Amino acid sequence: MASAPADVGVIVVAAGRSTRMGGATPKVWLPFRGAPLLARTLATLERCERIGAIVLVVREEERERTTALLAQRFRGLVARTCIAIGGAERRDSVRAGLAALPAAGIDVVLVHDAARPNASPALFARVAATASAVGAAIPVLPVVDTLRRRDPTGRAVTVDRTGLHAVQTPQGFRRVLLEQAHAQALDSVAITDDAMLFEALGLPVEWVAGEAANVKVTLPGDLERAEQLAGAGAMTTRIGLGHDLHRLERGGPLRLGGIDLVGELHAVGHSDGDALLHAVTDAILGACALGDIGQHFSERASENRGRDSAEFLRHALALAAERGFAPLQVDVVVRLERPKLAPVRAALVERLAGLLGLTANVVSIKAKTAEGLDAIGEGRAVACDAIVQMGRVSA
Ligand code: MG
Repeated sequence: MASAPADVGVIVVAAGRSTRMGGATPKVWLPFRGAPLLARTLATLERCERIGAIVLVVREEERERTTALLAQRFRGLVARTCIAIGGAERRDSVRAGLAALPAAGIDVVLVHDAARPNASPALFARVAATASAVGAAIPVLPVVDTLRRRDPTGRAVTVDRTGLHAVQTPQGFRRVLLEQAHAQALDSVAITDDAMLFEALGLPVEWVAGEAANVKVTLPGDLERAEQLAGAGAMTTRIGLGHDLHRLERGGPLRLGGIDLVGELHAVGHSDGDALLHAVTDAILGACALGDIGQHFSERASENRGRDSAEFLRHALALAAERGFAPLQVDVVVRLERPKLAPVRAALVERLAGLLGLTANVVSIKAKTAEGLDAIGEGRAVACDAIVQMGRVSA
């Protein structure tokens, strides 16, 4: 039997500023059942049939983190997934997503908000099938809450909810029609979803049954509700500890956490001597009982000479990912007399967070001196301790 064509492209819109969530972290990176919210949608897409291409539309500053998330957890999707950079408005992001789809082979496009983590594979399939047949399809649910609106005088007025429906995503469209709708839409018309563009052009949009659990994470508190609606699924966590020390010698710069620190000392090592990344790598290996960095990367191997330690870290993450584990948080203590880390601490946190596919709010780097005592205090060594928590969700 011939397999079904992979003619569906999915544009995952994840470039919003999340202002209504009230935090600094974009909501698609908030932890949801032990992984970033965005990972939940990717896990769903992994279980969908017919999907030939995925475009993740993110903010420029999330590009590296998104790449890391894909590489660590969704290697089965990497070959058919690309990253596009979103614009100021939702429609700009969808346009960027459309432009990034493969030129041929994708006939149906689903546009999905990454902030709806609970849309099921069945819903994706239902929307795709209807859009393919009719041209456009959206999932809706009848509004059951009583609705009230304040009139201009401040008086509360009950709204007749007869016929009212709440609209969800994924929304599905034949590709040619969606491209046409975006090309023809006036920028002056405010739109909050793609079906509105179709309706503005007089094109039919079919309704399919939405899902009660398919809520949109918008306000503080929504995340917990969405997690509860996601149902059972035990989270397994592991803790790993890592330590490393490198000798310091004259001649800068000092490589630490993937960043070159300006100064008169550098770390001596077979690789680039990055004690921070070595400690974090060991912590990740430790959490999964996979030995230590020396077992995976020999100090005698010529290919490891001067090697960028970020590659060791990525390898450890890949090994952990094969076992279903990805980092949830990390805490690092750097023991170094000089240079002072305070001026570069935020940059170190950002870099490490990017490498781990995490946000800065779950990545901690602390600096200690040794008060002039011992080898560290005398400026002859740098040492790092790292503790990492890894998580695996069994759905
Ligand atoms: Mg080392």
